[in-house]
Amino acid sequence: MKQVQSNSNILSLLEDKIKQIKKDNEAIYLVGPIKLPVNLNGKTVEFKWYSWLKSENVTENFQQVIDQLSSANLADYQQSSVLVYGDFEYGDEALIRMHSICHTGDIFGSKRCDCGFQLKQSMQMITDHGTGALFYLANHEGRGIGLFSKAMAYILQENGYDTVEANEGLGFPDDSRNYDEAIEVLKALRSKPVTLITNNPKKLKALQVAGAPVSGRTPLWGDVSEYNEKYLQTKVKKSGHMAE
Ligand SMILES: [Zn+2]
Repeated sequence: MKQVQSNSNILSLLEDKIKQIKKDNEAIYLVGPIKLPVNLNGKTVEFKWYSWLKSENVTENFQQVIDQLSSANLADYQQSSVLVYGDFEYGDEALIRMHSICHTGDIFGSKRCDCGFQLKQSMQMITDHGTGALFYLANHEGRGIGLFSKAMAYILQENGYDTVEANEGLGFPDDSRNYDEAIEVLKALRSKPVTLITNNPKKLKALQVAGAPVSGRTPLWGDVSEYNEKYLQTKVKKSGHMAE
Protein backbone atom coordinates (compact mmCIF):
# COMPACT_ATOMS: atom_id res chain seq x y z
CA MET A 1 0.00 0.00 0.00
CA LYS A 2 2.79 2.42 0.90
CA GLN A 3 4.51 1.60 -2.39
CA VAL A 4 1.38 2.50 -4.38
CA GLN A 5 0.98 5.79 -2.53
CA SER A 6 4.55 6.87 -3.07
CA ASN A 7 4.31 5.96 -6.77
CA SER A 8 1.20 8.03 -7.26
CA ASN A 9 2.92 10.91 -5.51
CA ILE A 10 5.85 10.66 -7.90
CA LEU A 11 3.51 10.57 -10.88
CA SER A 12 1.56 13.57 -9.62
CA LEU A 13 4.81 15.54 -9.28
CA LEU A 14 5.97 14.61 -12.77
CA GLU A 15 2.92 14.38 -14.98
CA ASP A 16 2.38 18.12 -15.46
CA LYS A 17 5.96 18.39 -16.60
CA ILE A 18 5.76 15.65 -19.22
CA LYS A 19 4.46 16.46 -22.65
CA GLN A 20 3.79 13.81 -25.23
CA ILE A 21 4.47 14.68 -28.86
CA LYS A 22 2.94 12.03 -31.11
CA LYS A 23 4.33 11.30 -34.55
CA ASP A 24 3.15 8.31 -36.59
CA ASN A 25 3.73 5.20 -34.43
CA GLU A 26 6.17 6.89 -32.09
CA ALA A 27 6.07 9.51 -29.39
CA ILE A 28 8.55 11.98 -28.03
CA TYR A 29 8.25 12.52 -24.27
CA LEU A 30 9.44 16.00 -23.41
CA VAL A 31 10.19 16.65 -19.75
CA GLY A 32 10.52 20.16 -18.31
CA PRO A 33 10.80 23.02 -17.78
CA ILE A 34 13.42 22.61 -15.08
CA LYS A 35 15.17 25.66 -13.59
CA LEU A 36 18.82 25.63 -14.62
CA PRO A 37 21.02 28.47 -13.40
CA VAL A 38 24.13 28.51 -15.56
CA ASN A 39 27.47 30.24 -15.18
CA LEU A 40 27.73 32.06 -18.50
CA ASN A 41 30.93 34.07 -18.87
CA GLY A 42 31.03 34.81 -15.13
CA LYS A 43 27.36 35.73 -14.73
CA THR A 44 24.57 33.49 -13.43
CA VAL A 45 21.85 33.19 -16.03
CA GLU A 46 18.67 31.20 -15.46
CA PHE A 47 17.62 28.93 -18.30
CA LYS A 48 14.69 26.55 -18.47
CA TRP A 49 15.92 23.10 -19.33
CA TYR A 50 14.05 20.25 -21.05
CA SER A 51 15.15 16.80 -22.11
CA TRP A 52 13.35 14.38 -24.38
CA LEU A 53 13.14 10.72 -25.24
CA LYS A 54 11.67 9.13 -28.33
CA SER A 55 9.83 5.87 -27.78
CA GLU A 56 7.78 3.37 -29.73
CA ASN A 57 5.62 3.01 -26.64
CA VAL A 58 2.88 5.55 -27.31
CA THR A 59 0.90 6.04 -24.11
CA GLU A 60 -0.85 8.79 -22.20
CA ASN A 61 -0.19 6.78 -19.05
CA PHE A 62 3.07 8.38 -17.94
CA GLN A 63 3.41 5.92 -15.06
CA GLN A 64 4.25 3.36 -17.75
CA VAL A 65 6.97 5.64 -19.09
CA ILE A 66 8.39 6.10 -15.56
CA ASP A 67 8.26 2.35 -14.88
CA GLN A 68 10.40 1.60 -17.94
CA LEU A 69 13.21 4.01 -17.09
CA SER A 70 15.21 1.88 -14.68
CA SER A 71 15.62 -0.97 -17.16
CA ALA A 72 16.16 1.16 -20.27
CA ASN A 73 19.92 1.70 -19.82
CA LEU A 74 19.50 5.30 -20.88
CA ALA A 75 23.03 6.22 -19.82
CA ASP A 76 24.29 3.93 -22.58
CA TYR A 77 22.55 6.12 -25.11
CA GLN A 78 22.78 9.87 -25.18
CA GLN A 79 19.62 11.92 -24.81
CA SER A 80 19.25 15.38 -26.28
CA SER A 81 18.06 18.46 -24.48
CA VAL A 82 17.21 22.10 -24.94
CA LEU A 83 17.99 25.22 -22.92
CA VAL A 84 15.27 27.84 -23.22
CA TYR A 85 15.65 31.48 -22.26
CA GLY A 86 13.00 34.16 -21.76
CA ASP A 87 9.45 34.02 -23.10
CA PHE A 88 10.15 31.50 -25.82
CA GLU A 89 6.54 30.46 -26.34
CA TYR A 90 5.13 33.93 -27.02
CA GLY A 91 8.09 36.29 -27.55
CA ASP A 92 8.03 38.02 -30.95
CA GLU A 93 11.59 37.43 -32.03
CA ALA A 94 13.49 34.36 -30.87
CA LEU A 95 16.91 32.98 -31.73
CA ILE A 96 17.63 29.29 -31.83
CA ARG A 97 20.79 27.28 -32.16
CA MET A 98 20.81 23.63 -33.22
CA HIS A 99 24.10 22.62 -31.60
CA SER A 100 25.66 19.30 -32.49
CA ILE A 101 27.26 17.58 -29.50
CA CYS A 102 31.05 17.74 -29.58
CA HIS A 103 32.72 15.80 -26.77
CA THR A 104 36.19 17.15 -27.55
CA GLY A 105 35.19 20.76 -28.22
CA ASP A 106 32.34 21.33 -25.74
CA ILE A 107 33.71 19.34 -22.80
CA PHE A 108 37.49 19.43 -23.19
CA GLY A 109 37.65 22.81 -24.95
CA SER A 110 39.52 21.37 -27.93
CA LYS A 111 40.88 23.94 -30.36
CA ARG A 112 40.63 21.55 -33.31
CA CYS A 113 37.11 22.78 -33.97
CA ASP A 114 35.05 25.82 -33.03
CA CYS A 115 32.20 23.95 -31.26
CA GLY A 116 32.98 24.94 -27.66
CA PHE A 117 33.25 28.57 -28.67
CA GLN A 118 30.03 28.39 -30.70
CA LEU A 119 28.15 26.74 -27.82
CA LYS A 120 29.04 29.48 -25.33
CA GLN A 121 28.69 32.24 -27.91
CA SER A 122 25.20 31.15 -28.97
CA MET A 123 24.07 30.93 -25.30
CA GLN A 124 25.35 34.49 -24.89
CA MET A 125 23.62 35.66 -28.10
CA ILE A 126 20.32 34.13 -26.94
CA THR A 127 20.45 35.77 -23.51
CA ASP A 128 21.54 39.13 -24.98
CA HIS A 129 18.67 38.92 -27.45
CA GLY A 130 16.12 38.26 -24.70
CA THR A 131 14.61 34.97 -25.76
CA GLY A 132 15.62 31.84 -27.58
CA ALA A 133 16.57 28.21 -27.30
CA LEU A 134 19.71 26.16 -27.62
CA PHE A 135 19.11 22.60 -28.77
CA TYR A 136 21.94 20.28 -27.75
CA LEU A 137 21.75 17.33 -30.11
CA ALA A 138 23.29 14.22 -28.65
CA ASN A 139 23.30 12.00 -31.72
CA HIS A 140 25.30 14.47 -33.80
CA GLU A 141 28.84 13.69 -32.65
CA GLY A 142 31.31 14.16 -35.50
CA ARG A 143 28.49 15.21 -37.85
CA GLY A 144 26.61 12.09 -36.86
CA ILE A 145 29.40 9.48 -37.12
CA GLY A 146 29.82 8.91 -33.36
CA LEU A 147 32.73 9.57 -31.01
CA PHE A 148 34.76 6.42 -31.73
CA SER A 149 34.61 7.01 -35.50
CA LYS A 150 35.47 10.65 -34.89
CA ALA A 151 38.68 9.57 -33.13
CA MET A 152 39.61 7.63 -36.28
CA ALA A 153 38.65 10.58 -38.47
CA TYR A 154 40.99 12.79 -36.42
CA ILE A 155 43.87 10.39 -37.10
CA LEU A 156 43.12 10.62 -40.81
CA GLN A 157 43.02 14.40 -40.49
CA GLU A 158 46.45 14.35 -38.87
CA ASN A 159 47.59 12.61 -42.04
CA GLY A 160 46.35 15.16 -44.51
CA TYR A 161 42.66 14.34 -44.94
CA ASP A 162 40.17 17.14 -44.49
CA THR A 163 36.97 16.71 -42.43
CA VAL A 164 34.84 15.69 -45.40
CA GLU A 165 37.42 13.28 -46.89
CA ALA A 166 37.98 11.64 -43.50
CA ASN A 167 34.28 10.97 -42.86
CA GLU A 168 33.79 9.69 -46.40
CA GLY A 169 36.93 7.54 -46.13
CA LEU A 170 35.38 5.76 -43.15
CA GLY A 171 32.23 5.00 -45.13
CA PHE A 172 30.03 7.81 -43.87
CA PRO A 173 28.30 10.53 -45.83
CA ASP A 174 29.88 13.93 -45.18
CA ASP A 175 26.96 14.86 -42.95
CA SER A 176 24.59 12.30 -41.43
CA ARG A 177 22.83 14.60 -38.98
CA ASN A 178 19.07 14.48 -38.64
CA TYR A 179 16.99 17.25 -37.09
CA ASP A 180 13.52 15.63 -37.08
CA GLU A 181 13.17 15.17 -33.31
CA ALA A 182 14.54 18.62 -32.54
CA ILE A 183 12.07 20.16 -34.99
CA GLU A 184 9.15 18.39 -33.30
CA VAL A 185 10.32 19.65 -29.91
CA LEU A 186 10.77 23.17 -31.28
CA LYS A 187 7.21 23.15 -32.61
CA ALA A 188 5.93 21.93 -29.23
CA LEU A 189 7.68 24.81 -27.45
CA ARG A 190 6.82 27.60 -29.87
CA SER A 191 4.59 28.12 -32.89
CA LYS A 192 5.96 31.45 -34.17
CA PRO A 193 8.95 31.53 -36.53
CA VAL A 194 12.52 31.70 -35.21
CA THR A 195 15.89 32.94 -36.45
CA LEU A 196 18.60 30.30 -36.66
CA ILE A 197 22.11 31.01 -35.38
CA THR A 198 24.40 29.41 -37.95
CA ASN A 199 27.02 30.10 -40.60
CA ASN A 200 25.70 27.21 -42.62
CA PRO A 201 23.00 28.12 -45.17
CA LYS A 202 22.58 24.38 -45.87
CA LYS A 203 21.49 23.84 -42.27
CA LEU A 204 18.90 26.60 -42.60
CA LYS A 205 17.63 25.03 -45.83
CA ALA A 206 17.60 21.49 -44.35
CA LEU A 207 15.57 22.67 -41.36
CA GLN A 208 13.10 24.55 -43.57
CA VAL A 209 12.66 21.52 -45.86
CA ALA A 210 12.05 19.35 -42.78
CA GLY A 211 9.25 21.68 -41.71
CA ALA A 212 10.93 23.84 -39.06
CA PRO A 213 9.41 27.31 -38.65
CA VAL A 214 12.75 29.04 -39.31
CA SER A 215 12.46 32.40 -41.06
CA GLY A 216 16.10 33.45 -41.32
CA ARG A 217 19.66 33.12 -40.20
CA THR A 218 22.08 35.09 -38.07
CA PRO A 219 25.80 34.31 -38.29
CA LEU A 220 28.23 33.15 -35.64
CA TRP A 221 31.92 33.20 -36.30
CA GLY A 222 35.16 33.50 -34.42
CA ASP A 223 37.83 31.72 -32.43
CA VAL A 224 40.04 31.07 -35.47
CA SER A 225 43.40 29.65 -34.48
CA GLU A 226 46.29 27.76 -36.05
CA TYR A 227 44.68 24.53 -34.83
CA ASN A 228 41.31 24.89 -36.52
CA GLU A 229 42.23 26.99 -39.56
CA LYS A 230 42.06 24.04 -41.95
CA TYR A 231 38.83 22.74 -40.39
CA LEU A 232 37.20 26.14 -40.80
CA GLN A 233 38.48 26.52 -44.37
CA THR A 234 36.97 23.13 -45.25
CA LYS A 235 33.64 24.27 -43.82
CA VAL A 236 33.74 27.29 -46.12
CA LYS A 237 35.10 25.56 -49.24
CA LYS A 238 33.35 22.21 -49.11
CA SER A 239 30.37 22.41 -46.79
CA GLY A 240 28.90 25.71 -47.97
CA HIS A 241 29.55 27.74 -44.84
CA MET A 242 29.69 31.50 -45.05
CA ALA A 243 32.90 33.10 -43.85
CA GLU A 244 31.53 36.06 -41.95
ZN1 LIG B 1 33.69 20.10 -32.47
